[in-house]
Amino acid sequence: MVKRITKQERERIHAVLSLLDEHYTTEFKCYLNHETPWQLLIAVILSAQCTDARVNIVTKDLFQKYKTLDDFAYANQKELEQDIHSTGFYQNKAKNIILCAKRLVEVYGGEVPSKLEDLLTLAGVGRKTANVIRGNIYNEPSIVVDTHVKRISKKLGFTKEEDPEKIEYDLMKVLPKDHWILYNIQIITHGRGLCTARNPQCNACFLNELCKDVKNKKERKKNTSSQ
Ligand code: SF4
Repeated sequence: MVKRITKQERERIHAVLSLLDEHYTTEFKCYLNHETPWQLLIAVILSAQCTDARVNIVTKDLFQKYKTLDDFAYANQKELEQDIHSTGFYQNKAKNIILCAKRLVEVYGGEVPSKLEDLLTLAGVGRKTANVIRGNIYNEPSIVVDTHVKRISKKLGFTKEEDPEKIEYDLMKVLPKDHWILYNIQIITHGRGLCTARNPQCNACFLNELCKDVKNKKERKKNTSSQ
């Protein structure tokens, strides 16, 4: 049975989104440098278990050396592995990039498809990568569940799930469609600044009054002191 969202909860969600808009603006931005859709696709494949900053350093030279999708499709795997070595998991990533580029050239005429089901047929592309492409390139409402979105959405009480796909579906239910792309951009900024995994700055956070994690901690403290 689908759980209905109460009016109070809807107002809380709305207040959270308004504050995110206010603090982080509603400007769309992509943290991975790219000039073409296929460059973004390769950058997202490289970003698995790696920081965006590191990927941007690597792609600066990589996209100078491999100027076209064909250059990646027919690349020497060992050489590509060396070129992307510092992003980690370089053997798998090199293999996937070559397979992905080949399929884009041979099946999609060198274009990056916009449909989720097509994107998911590409090597190294899961829902997260596919949704980055759909949101950033095609402006299709899509929710990207990365490490920040996963952690902070739980703290905000938007989901209780662990599995990224289930989190994505939960977020689709609670967030208005016009915030699907923005939410990820804003939450990444929030997760890199105030709400880091190691040291969330709850006292300084503008979401403090609305955050479920803070509320739960306060309740637990109250219960412990009244025992
Ligand atoms: S109040 Fe704390 S846990 Fe909640 S979003 Fe802000 S920093 Fe994160």
